[in-house]
Amino acid sequence: MRRSLDALTAGPFDVLILGGGITGAGVALDSALRGFRVALIDKGDFASGTSSASSKLVHGGLRYLEHGHIPLVYEALRERRLLLRNAPHLVHPLRFVVPFFAGARVARWQWRAGLSLYDLLAGAGNLRRNRPLHRSHLRREFPDLNSAGLTGGAEYYDAQMDDARLCIEVLRTAAAHGASLANYVEAVGFEKVNGRIAGAQVVDRVGGESFAIYARQVVNATGPWVDAVCRLAGDASTQHLRPTKGVHLIAPDRGLRSAFLLLHPEDGRVFFVLPWQGKTLVGATDTLCDDSPDALTVTADDQAYLLAGHNHFFSPSLAEADILNSFVGLRPLVHSSKGDPSSLPREFRLIASPSGLLSVAGGKYTTYRAMAETITDVVAARLGKQRHCRTRRCALDGAPPERWTAFLERETASLGACHGVGEETARHLVERYGRRAAEVAAYLERDPALGKPVDPGEPEMRAEFVYQQEHEMALFPEDHLLRRTHLGLFRPELLRWIGGG
Ligand SMILES: Cc1cc2nc3c(=O)[nH]c(=O)nc-3n(C[C@H](O)[C@H](O)[C@H](O)COP(=O)(O)OP(=O)(O)OC[C@H]3O[C@@H](n4cnc5c(N)ncnc54)[C@H](O)[C@@H]3O)c2cc1C
Repeated sequence: MRRSLDALTAGPFDVLILGGGITGAGVALDSALRGFRVALIDKGDFASGTSSASSKLVHGGLRYLEHGHIPLVYEALRERRLLLRNAPHLVHPLRFVVPFFAGARVARWQWRAGLSLYDLLAGAGNLRRNRPLHRSHLRREFPDLNSAGLTGGAEYYDAQMDDARLCIEVLRTAAAHGASLANYVEAVGFEKVNGRIAGAQVVDRVGGESFAIYARQVVNATGPWVDAVCRLAGDASTQHLRPTKGVHLIAPDRGLRSAFLLLHPEDGRVFFVLPWQGKTLVGATDTLCDDSPDALTVTADDQAYLLAGHNHFFSPSLAEADILNSFVGLRPLVHSSKGDPSSLPREFRLIASPSGLLSVAGGKYTTYRAMAETITDVVAARLGKQRHCRTRRCALDGAPPERWTAFLERETASLGACHGVGEETARHLVERYGRRAAEVAAYLERDPALGKPVDPGEPEMRAEFVYQQEHEMALFPEDHLLRRTHLGLFRPELLRWIGGG
């Protein structure tokens, strides 16, 4: 995947996608697989918006059942199955535990009914049936779980991902099928012919150059920026989004091997305590937010809310000083006049403006492929090129050619034997790059010093940064530290050291 501005000026394209989060990435891949000429730009790094700030869950969303969003849950569970098959190196099953407490907002029987419905909706794609857990079992398995009022619980299975890398991998797969992509290229206006959009005026945020990209159809997939881009196109008649802010805290590993779905003691909202990449995540908040997506902050209140939630359920408690870092994103939810933030629909809406612009509002990460299928069907109809969607069976770029567990063991051993990589690092490379791991390890032949770790406490080796520069379009330190690895999330001081800030 190479950044080439020349390729972008060599239009006209069939479709130009604005936004390289998961929504835009999905449309780029679907369109490229249908044989369309595709261009995609992002004003920052790929996945630098909401698509790197999620709870990292590929899930049906048990909590959406409470609001009656059954079709969404059904679709998301189907997409979970497809993602586990098409990107098994980046999406893994995860066990969830729901503890039941006396007097809680959701009664035991309601949990049991919800979990049974969840199993039913997953159908043949179910990972494992939910199972009741006795109070004594929970106390034995999770000695840190506070047991006052604990009456029992249940376990069920969902899946977990690396959101930023999955997004980049969808883009890489699109590039392999001919899409022209560039990060750090911002749409600042539109080219119009007879009032109809015929392309975008863009600025290269690296070199400073301005130019136009021409396309028969422009798709606005800018997530929380969708309304701003509509205004840029002169289509500002209504507000399409009602964004909510979501904050997560990152703590050192709390020793949990399962995720916890919990109800916050202050407002009864669902929140998670999750094991992720050797750390523990606590999140998320869900508050209506009018702040610019370019200037989001984590407030003391956000942090206090999440710490209070964690500490209500677990001892020893987490203190502010224990927190390694936090991250924040805006859910680009469809505007709807009523409802508290948690009950706002996660469905998406495709808006066709009089200027011809197609804008995408809402959606969930998990359902990006299905969203892209619907959007690309509309694009295909507008182009007059009826071609079928091929993403259901499209393995992503790093997906191995054989069963994941067998591949992981074989490739880990092979990296050790062929490149002298230690077992832990080799396993880490395979889990991150899938079948591309050997290409990363091969850099050690160029320079054995590239085998040294970037940070002594973490598995990343220096060769990854060179590989990411040459094959994953990483341009700046934060591209490596926040999206292609998570070193900067876990050790924020690295961003200051490496960035020289
Ligand atoms: C706290 C939180 C937790 C979540 N957890 C989950 C979860 O566990 N599972 C799940 O399925 N979903 C989850 N979601 C939802 C999911 O993360 C989002 O629906 C999804 O990431 C949105 O992707 P997007 O591509 O639409 O937007 P974004 O990822 O924000 O991408 C939009 C892109 O557009 C670019 N852009 C903006 N303006 C321009 C311009 N003028 N020119 C060019 N580019 C531009 C931006 O730089 C950005 O990269 C969560 C969301 C939040 C906030």
